Amino acid sequence: MIKNLFRRTNSTKEYTEQRRPAVTPQHFDYDEDIIKTITKHPKTKEDEMFILSAIENNDFLCSLLQNKKLQDVVDCMYPETVSPSQTIIKEGDDGSHLYVSVTGTYEVIQSGKVVKTFSDVRVFGELALLYNAKRTATIKARTFGKIWILDRVVFKHLMVISDIEQRQENVDFLKQVPKLNSVPLEVLEEVASLLKLNFFSTGTKIVEEGELNPDKFYIIKAGSVTVSKKNEGAIDKLYKGSFFGELALLKEKERKATVTADPPGTECLILARREFIAHFGNIPDCFSINIQTQPYKPMEEIIEHTDLNLADFHFISTLGIGGFGRVKLVQHFTKKELVFALKCMEKYVIAAEKHQEHVFNEKNIQIVCKNNFIVRLYRTYRDKKFLYFLLEPCLGGDLWTHLHKQKPRLFDEVQAKFYTACVVEAFNYLHERLIIYRDLKPENLLIDAKGYVKLTDFGFAKKLKMIKKCIKKTYTFAGTPEYVPPEIILNQGHDKAVDYWALGVFIFELLTGKTPFRTDDITYMKTYKLILKGIDDVEFPKHVSQEAEKLVKELCKSTPPQRLGCGSGGILDVKQHQWFEGFEWGRFEECKMPAPFRPNLRTNTDVHYFEKFEENEEVPPDVALDWDKEF
Ligand code: ATP
Ligand code: MG
Repeated sequence: MIKNLFRRTNSTKEYTEQRRPAVTPQHFDYDEDIIKTITKHPKTKEDEMFILSAIENNDFLCSLLQNKKLQDVVDCMYPETVSPSQTIIKEGDDGSHLYVSVTGTYEVIQSGKVVKTFSDVRVFGELALLYNAKRTATIKARTFGKIWILDRVVFKHLMVISDIEQRQENVDFLKQVPKLNSVPLEVLEEVASLLKLNFFSTGTKIVEEGELNPDKFYIIKAGSVTVSKKNEGAIDKLYKGSFFGELALLKEKERKATVTADPPGTECLILARREFIAHFGNIPDCFSINIQTQPYKPMEEIIEHTDLNLADFHFISTLGIGGFGRVKLVQHFTKKELVFALKCMEKYVIAAEKHQEHVFNEKNIQIVCKNNFIVRLYRTYRDKKFLYFLLEPCLGGDLWTHLHKQKPRLFDEVQAKFYTACVVEAFNYLHERLIIYRDLKPENLLIDAKGYVKLTDFGFAKKLKMIKKCIKKTYTFAGTPEYVPPEIILNQGHDKAVDYWALGVFIFELLTGKTPFRTDDITYMKTYKLILKGIDDVEFPKHVSQEAEKLVKELCKSTPPQRLGCGSGGILDVKQHQWFEGFEWGRFEECKMPAPFRPNLRTNTDVHYFEKFEENEEVPPDVALDWDKEF
C-alpha cells in the first residue's frame, strides 16, 4: 500500500512536484512451514507456453524471473475458470495475486468507465507480487475464459528458496577449491556472495596465455572448457565444478594457459581479485581470510526531559502533516528557551491502518539515537486520542523543499558533498548499532539552525539480528520506490548494503535534481525494471564530475557486498573516496564547518521555512485499547 501522504488540503504553497511516499512495509518472514504447503499445479504444454510467453512480454517480470525462478513460478500457478461479468481485480483493493489470461475477453475499468478490452494472453496485476499495492483498475471478464493465478506469499517464498539453493550450490562449488575448503563456512558464504555469473559463447577465449596481471578466478557452472598451450595444443578439458585461474587471486603475473568455451557455450561463476580484496582486505598468505566482525555498539534508550508534561507547552504553529497527524512547534510556558517539535499521531488512524508495529519501531529506534546527524527523540507521551513524540526542532525545513527551491533544481558539488557527509555520519552511527535505515530521501532530512541536516522518520528502520557472527538478513519490502535496491525487489534478503545503494541514488538526486531510475510510471514497475538493469545503463549529465559519477556507481553496484561501504574498509571507504578529497571530516564531525546554507532564523520559534496550515482541526475519537502502554 502506498501511503496517502497528501492529506494537507489547506497548504498555501503548491509545489509542482510532490514529496514521494514510501511503500508501507508488509512484514515478510521466510517460513519453512509455508514451503511445505506450496504445491505445483500440472499444466498442458500449451498452457505452459502461453504463460511463458505472457511473462516474456512483460518487461518487469522478464528482468525479475530467469531460469529456475521462472520455471518455479510457472509450476506454482493455479487455474481458474471465469464467467461473464466476473470481477477478477477491483480498483482500489489491495492486490495480492498476479494473473495470466489464457482465453476469454476482459474489460479494464477505471472510475466506472471501460477504458480498454483485451483478449490476448497477458500478465496483469503484477505489482501485487512485490507488496500490497492498491489496484489501479478493475478487470472484469466479458466472456467465459481461463486464467492462471500466482499468490504473492508463494511467489516470495519461491524467490527466497531459489536464492538459498543458488547460494548453497555456489558454496558447494567453492568447497572444492583446495585453498578454500579449509575456511569457515561463514567466510565461504561471503565469498559465494561475491561470485558473478557470466555466459561465454562457444569459442570465447575466457583467459588467454600470456595475459598480464590477470585478476579473475573462474568456476564452471555449466558446460565445459578446453585448456590449451601455444606449444602443446589442447592439454585438458574441464567440466562443471572445475575451476581455473585461481592463481589470479594470489597476484599471478601472467596466465599460463588459454581456456576456451566449448559448444554450446559455458556458464562460469567469476570472482575478481579486486573485489575479493576490497571485501576481505589484503590477503597476506593467500587464503588466510576471515570475516572482520566489528564489535557492535549496544542500543540503549536515552530518555530526556522526564520532568516535562504536555500541559507545560503552548502551541506555536503546525510544522507539517504526516501520515498519522500533525507535527506542531511547541514552547515551554515559562522556560522560553525550551522549544520542541511535537509529533501528534492519531491513535485511531494508526489502529485503522494497522500501523502499530511501524510506530513502535519508529519510537524504539529513534529513542536510542543521540547523534548530531539524527533528529533527537527526547521522549514520548500518550493520551486517549494521540501518541506524541517530543522531538528536537529543525526550523530550516526539509532538504527536499530546499532542493526544489534551487534554480536550476540541483546542488553544486560542494553543497551536495556537505549534505551527503551528514548522511554518511548518520549511517555510520546507525550501522555501528546494527540498525539499517531503509528510507533515505531528501524528504526525510531536516535542516537545523546551523544548516546541518539530520535524519528523521524511523518507521522503516530495523535492528538486524546477529546469529553466530553472521548478520541475519531481513526480507520485508521497505522504502521509497525510486530508492529501493535490486535485492529488495528480488526478495533476496537485505542488510546495511541497502543504505549504501540509497546513498548513491541520493547523491545523484542532489547533483541532478532527479533520481537515476525515475520514470513517469505511477505504478513504479518501469522504475523497478531500470533498477534491475543497473546503474551502468544510466546516463550521467555532463556537469556531474567524474569523481561523483564513480562514487555513485560504486555505491549502486547491483551485488550488495560489492558496494562501497560494504567491504573491509566499511564506511571509511566512502569517506576516503576521491570525491571527498580535501573534505575536512574532523572539522565537519564537530559541526565546525560552515554549512552551504544557513537558515535565517530570527527567533527560536521562527517558522517561515514551513508551509502554512489552517489550525481548525477535527478532534479524533478516543481509542480505549491500551496497545500503546510502552509510550
Ligand atoms: P510519517 O507519517 O511517515 O512520519 P512524514 O514524514 O510525512 O510521514 P512527519 O514525520 O509526521 O510525517 O512530519 C511531517 C512534517 O512535519 C515533515 O515533513 C516536516 O516538515 C515536519 N517535521 C517533522 N518533524 C520535524 C522536526 N523535528 N522539526 C521540524 N519539522 C518537523
Ligand atoms: Mg518524513
